[in-house]
Amino acid sequence: MTGLISRLIFLGPPGAGKGTQAMRLANIYQIPHISTGELLRTAVQEQTPLGKKAQKYMEQGDLVPDDLMLDLVLHRLEDDDVAKGWILDGFPRTVSQASFLDHLLAEIHQKCNCVVNLEVPDETLVGRMLGRGRKDDNEQTIRHRLEVYHHETAPVIDYYRERNQLVSVNGNLPIDEVTNVLKNMLHP
Ligand code: AMP
Repeated sequence: MTGLISRLIFLGPPGAGKGTQAMRLANIYQIPHISTGELLRTAVQEQTPLGKKAQKYMEQGDLVPDDLMLDLVLHRLEDDDVAKGWILDGFPRTVSQASFLDHLLAEIHQKCNCVVNLEVPDETLVGRMLGRGRKDDNEQTIRHRLEVYHHETAPVIDYYRERNQLVSVNGNLPIDEVTNVLKNMLHP
């Protein structure tokens, strides 16, 4: 991969396919896939201090408080393997997280090249998440996560649009087609 687009942020509602597409692109371009949801699930599994604090929020479909999230991302972006690029999936999820990330990237002299917004209608999302079978994927929690998304995370889309960093992609297509659209967009 050239240095042109090697730092990506994936935005989109829960169930939009961020994780799947981020993982595929990370494999293709050989850069780390940083999923805050995955990092948190591992922390919960291992019952680390962070995991113990995050667990109840995740089970209820609420956002884990910013102070815990910022620390997590700060440390992950300090690892050596992120020097050549990264794909952030699930972060930022609030405007304050987005602003924190901007400052952090400026400090470590890195620049996000592109923010991809995967668009999928709500009715499709609920069906997809119910089929996924994750612990926080029961219907009540899913509906709550969608509400939290529209309330807290959707404003992050405007944040990046205003900064001319946003590219919207139709996520309501077969998985391979979405991957192809993304690959062509990043490396035409
Ligand atoms: P995900 O795998 O991205 O759907 O994340 C699963 C859960 O982890 C979310 O429902 C939140 O409870 C928590 N989480 C993940 N990323 C964040 C974040 N950036 N800010 C707050 N909570 C998060």
